[in-house]
Amino acid sequence: MPKRTLARPTVTPFVVAYDDEQAGSLDDLTIEFTPTPRLAYRDMQPDDRDRAGVLWARIERTSRKGKPIYNSMNTERQREAMYDLLCQVCSEPASRNKDGWLFLDWQTPQDPPTWPEGSLTNMPPLCVECARLAVEECPHADLFVPLRVKLPRLWGVSGVQYRWTENGWKTYGSIPWLRYGDERLPAVLASQLIRELCKVTVIDLP
Ligand SMILES: [Zn+2]
Repeated sequence: MPKRTLARPTVTPFVVAYDDEQAGSLDDLTIEFTPTPRLAYRDMQPDDRDRAGVLWARIERTSRKGKPIYNSMNTERQREAMYDLLCQVCSEPASRNKDGWLFLDWQTPQDPPTWPEGSLTNMPPLCVECARLAVEECPHADLFVPLRVKLPRLWGVSGVQYRWTENGWKTYGSIPWLRYGDERLPAVLASQLIRELCKVTVIDLP
C-alpha cells in the first residue's frame, strides 16, 4: 500500500513542544557543593533531579495550546513519556507484548553496527494505533523501522553543559548523548531522557 504523506498531521503528539512554552531562567541556577561543585536551582523542587542526581531543565509554563513545533520536544513531557514508557503521541501506556515495548526507530550514522540492537533513542515508545498514525502521517515515515524492545535501558540524557565563572554559570554547548555516570553530568542541565534499545526484534506493524 502506498504511503500517504499529509501536509499537516491530524494529531499533535504529546511530546511536541509549543511556541508559548517558556524555559526556566538562567538566573534560577546556582552552585551546590556536595562537596564537589554541581549545578543546582536556588529553590530545589522534588523533580528537579532524577534518580541519578542529574539536574533537569525547567519549563516555566506548559500549555499545549500555542503553535506546535514539530521538530522539538517539551522537556517535561518527553521525560515523563520516556521514563514511564508512555505512548509519545497519546500519553497512554505504550504497547507491550511478550517481545517487549513498541518503538519506531531509524538508523543514523552514529548508530552501532549492531543496529537496531544497542541503539540509543530519545523517542519514547508508542501504542499500536499511534504507531500506525505516525507511519501514515510523518514525513520521515519511510525511514521508520517498527521494533519490539524487551529491555529499553535507561542510558543517559541530552542536555546543555555549563561552566562556572566568577559571574555565575555560563552555557558551554549542548551534548546530545551523555551516559549516566559521565564525569561532566554535575555541570549539565538535562533536557531529554535517552534509552538504549536492548533485546530488539524487528517486526511488521500489526
Ligand atoms: Zn498512542
